[in-house]
Amino acid sequence: MSNDILLPPLPYADNALAPVISANTISFHYGKHHKGYVENLNKLIAGTEFAAFPLEKIITETAGKADKTAIFNNAAQAWNHTFYWNSLKPKGGGEVPAALKQRIEASFGTLDACKKELAAMAMSQFGSGWVWIVLDGGKLKVVKTSNADMPLTMGMKPLLTIDVWEHAYYLDYQNRRADYVNTVLDKLINWGFAASNLKSS
Ligand code: MN
Repeated sequence: MSNDILLPPLPYADNALAPVISANTISFHYGKHHKGYVENLNKLIAGTEFAAFPLEKIITETAGKADKTAIFNNAAQAWNHTFYWNSLKPKGGGEVPAALKQRIEASFGTLDACKKELAAMAMSQFGSGWVWIVLDGGKLKVVKTSNADMPLTMGMKPLLTIDVWEHAYYLDYQNRRADYVNTVLDKLINWGFAASNLKSS
């Protein structure tokens, strides 16, 4: 019995994040990159034991296995992108729900310090990858991962992410990754999504 892994619909219209992220970027990022990872994954798992697994189980079962790298990369990228779309929203940024804000202040001192650490982590990621706020042993942390790597395979619970692959920002910001990350943090980040992930942990 096999279940195709599906490409979830975007949680907003393709132009809803403009001008911070243009409809043109979304059309490539969601319509080509994310869709491509899902399509590649379905081809790679067809006829294998993984065809019957939900996406998260495909990721945890293939992580760190040299002969399963292609499946892991496409599965993790499929998951990471869905998580990224949910980490953004039109008219985001702004107020952080109280319970999350308390946890952020306990771990980072201030919300601003947390945002600065995220931006600095994004700048220090050499090449393609992701920055995350995670829950790790009861404490909130900012971490970065390379390429398709993600926190679930490292025993950490992701609360939100920002994609720092060039395809996420190059059409709109060219090489200015810091401008992209800081503008996303101020105008699009979905603190409510992070709060709901914290609550479900
Ligand atoms: Mn991406």
